Amino acid sequence: MNIQKNISLKKYNTFGIDVTAKYFCEITSLHDLSEVLQLEEYPNIFVISGGSNMLLTNNIDALVLHINIKGITIISETNDTVTVKVMAGENWHQFVLWSLDNNFGGIENMSLIPGNVGTSPIQNIGAYGVELKDVFFSCEAVNIKTQITKTFSKSECNFGYRESFFKREGKDKFIITSVNIKLTKSNHTLNTSYGTIDTELAKNGITNPTIKDISNAVITIRKSKLPDPNEIGNSGSFFKNPILNLKEFSSFIEKNPKAPYYKMSEDEYKVPAGWLIEQCGFKGKRFGDAGVHDKQALVLVNYGDASGKDIIHLAQQIINEVDKKFEICIFPEVNII
Ligand SMILES: Cc1cc2nc3c(=O)[nH]c(=O)nc-3n(C[C@H](O)[C@H](O)[C@H](O)COP(=O)(O)OP(=O)(O)OC[C@H]3O[C@@H](n4cnc5c(N)ncnc54)[C@H](O)[C@@H]3O)c2cc1C
Repeated sequence: MNIQKNISLKKYNTFGIDVTAKYFCEITSLHDLSEVLQLEEYPNIFVISGGSNMLLTNNIDALVLHINIKGITIISETNDTVTVKVMAGENWHQFVLWSLDNNFGGIENMSLIPGNVGTSPIQNIGAYGVELKDVFFSCEAVNIKTQITKTFSKSECNFGYRESFFKREGKDKFIITSVNIKLTKSNHTLNTSYGTIDTELAKNGITNPTIKDISNAVITIRKSKLPDPNEIGNSGSFFKNPILNLKEFSSFIEKNPKAPYYKMSEDEYKVPAGWLIEQCGFKGKRFGDAGVHDKQALVLVNYGDASGKDIIHLAQQIINEVDKKFEICIFPEVNII
């Protein structure tokens, strides 16, 4: 096992923030992970996978473990479904492509989400009307302190909107090592009504789409809307969309009758944070090397040498202005480290 010292994490996070890890180790097997967790000289552990959902604001005075354990195995199947064990270090989108190659359905709407499979349960990733919880069966995670591996069922993960046990009570306590995902082999449930998937399919004359067609449509839409982290540093949606109760929503919509919203239940209304931010005049604005993307106000970007603190400063200004204008508190979706 190779533990390196003073390693820049710039290429390990999609925001491209240049902070240093005091110690750094690449983890490519469960054996490596078990060994490294037993080393008493490194009591503080920090875990990084695809680095696409974190804003690093300081050097990391810990042993940073880069989880890169690979492997995809079918563990059970029936005539209609298949359960696949995917190791934590597999890239999420590569796994989506693997499932499409095998004609396994259920995750096509989540094409092109950056990051790894092992991190997908942490914020219950989701896009275009589908969330991880819809296909999640269980996951395995190692307790960092006791080194005991536990299997978490779906109910134990306590999934919510961009939330789970691992983002709350389990935060920084477990390292997820694999995820079991249940997909369909036939009679796929197609979800084309969300966003502009239908329009994109119609543009290509597709009336009877396959899961591959849906994936292609999602990829095209995402590429047209979201900045590619390889070209400009970002972490996708920086803020969660606020969910208002009926009383809050009624007051909001009375004052802002043109605001877009999504009714989740009789007492829950989701309002796009991007719209709120845009109304505050931040879309496309740049402050030094920190900025708000010009096509999607929900995305904060690093034009080059912004520090984590520059991005946080901008995020705080946005939070204050949205609160002042709409009396709505928005919260980061990204993990601030
Ligand atoms: C351009 C862009 C678009 C995006 N679009 C979406 C979207 O549509 N939907 C969506 O839900 N998300 C989206 N995201 C956010 C991101 O892709 C997801 O949150 C993804 O699951 C993060 O995975 P990661 O491997 O990069 O996690 P990291 O950023 O590496 O880690 C995230 C957190 O988990 C911890 N962690 C890392 N690995 C492990 C592990 N194995 N076990 C336990 N803890 C761990 C880290 O310490 C950190 O706190 C987008 C991001 C970008 C950059």
